[in-house]
Amino acid sequence: MPQPASAKHPPFGAALRPHLTRTKTIATVGPACATQEMLQNLILEGVDVFRLNMAHGSREDHQQAVDNIRAACLHVGMAAGILVDLAGPKIRLGQLHTEPLQLGNGAEVEILKEGEPKQAYELTCTYAPLVDELKVDDEIMLQDGLVRLKVIEKLAARVRCRVIEGGEIRSRQGVNLPGVDLGVPALLEQDRKNAVWAAENEVEFVSLSFVRRAEEIAELKELLQQHASQAMVMAKIEKREAMENLDSIVQEADAIMVARGDLGVEIEIEKTPLAQKKIIRACSRLGRPVVVATQMLESMLKNARPTRAEASDVANAILDGADACMLSGETAIGDYPLEAVRIMRKIQKETEQMLQGRPSRMRSAEQVAKQDVTEAVIFGAALIARRVQAKLVMIATEDGNAAIIKSKQRDFIPTLAVTNDPKVVNRMCLLWGVASARLDSLEIGMMREWVEKWAKDTALLESGDRILFVADTEVWEGVHDTVMVWMVP
Ligand code: PGA
Ligand code: MN
Repeated sequence: MPQPASAKHPPFGAALRPHLTRTKTIATVGPACATQEMLQNLILEGVDVFRLNMAHGSREDHQQAVDNIRAACLHVGMAAGILVDLAGPKIRLGQLHTEPLQLGNGAEVEILKEGEPKQAYELTCTYAPLVDELKVDDEIMLQDGLVRLKVIEKLAARVRCRVIEGGEIRSRQGVNLPGVDLGVPALLEQDRKNAVWAAENEVEFVSLSFVRRAEEIAELKELLQQHASQAMVMAKIEKREAMENLDSIVQEADAIMVARGDLGVEIEIEKTPLAQKKIIRACSRLGRPVVVATQMLESMLKNARPTRAEASDVANAILDGADACMLSGETAIGDYPLEAVRIMRKIQKETEQMLQGRPSRMRSAEQVAKQDVTEAVIFGAALIARRVQAKLVMIATEDGNAAIIKSKQRDFIPTLAVTNDPKVVNRMCLLWGVASARLDSLEIGMMREWVEKWAKDTALLESGDRILFVADTEVWEGVHDTVMVWMVP
């Protein structure tokens, strides 16, 4: 029996608990954190969004994860979003003849178009047309870029490659083709099925791997809309072509992920630090939430403490302007999932101090186009809030867009975004510095009554504290045109 919306989505989002950070945390779900209890603990430690990686696990596993996450949120009375991460056109090796296979420098291997490998040095992959699309001198990366092959000859239904950089490979490992423009479609059959399943489960975010062009994001959006999904669509930037089409992709997508795992193989490793900054800058300019992902606390797969370099990496992502940091294997298969989230939060909290006191950012009218009035009003609200020493900015929003604008300003005045749509509450979990709550009505009198009671119940505000309230009066459709200063009685 379907549950009523209020049971599935806790009415109050992450309350403005003082120990929470402005930066949000995404945790990848896997065997290390799949139980109800672990998920609850992760939420209490500060996880805002859970990622389900469609490249691993079965439909049953994913369904179980969705059900467990929703139940865990309900149990702890906090909101968390769910991100369904579509594998996209990721190419993998097929079954190897010899497992694992050692490839020495200078050795020769062949990639077959069809059939099974009959000896160790014959490889297959999950994308049959690859053999036709490869050209002599193209480079093929295996084992996360550690093993490198070069095409030396094209034969009928197979290509011959030389091993440039040797190493050990295994079945089903990813194949990266940095310089090759592949004809493979952005959404494979399995991605479409997974997207429809995500829509049915009303998840808040759907991401697409290996995006190359803005149209691919538009295609996914259309598919989701056909299935009545309002999920935010996230483009994972992990291809050279995506870097070349960065602005149009950021414009089309609702959110962006700096997917450094594959990006670091698809472009030169020395170019990834600046690529991260460039992507984040485009997102700040165009007003899109941006996630930095992969290897953030990688050594915590096996160790209870991260390396100094990893701590610096998390801090630098925040200073670059990331809205959220993502944990991958650390929470999915690591030995220390809770510790990883805890330490991430500590680094975030410490680093955010450095952002405090920086002037709020307002984007130019041209960058915000139709939202220029809302942008200016929210910017003004933050100025007023500072002047009157308001303890809270409260934004009423139906679709969450005003909360994105507030988030991107990066001021430290605690922000509570309220909405009457339970799905929007969970979507706002991704936004830097924004806590969210669901109200039955967005009528101004009701909202005022509610926040006064909320302040009292949570004891987060005291009598006499000021609240800066921002809303849309509907005098001007879709525009936040009102600022009020309230006082807790
Ligand atoms: P993945 O994406 O973990 O699904 O590969 C993230 C990345 O490539 O960094
Ligand atoms: Mn990837």
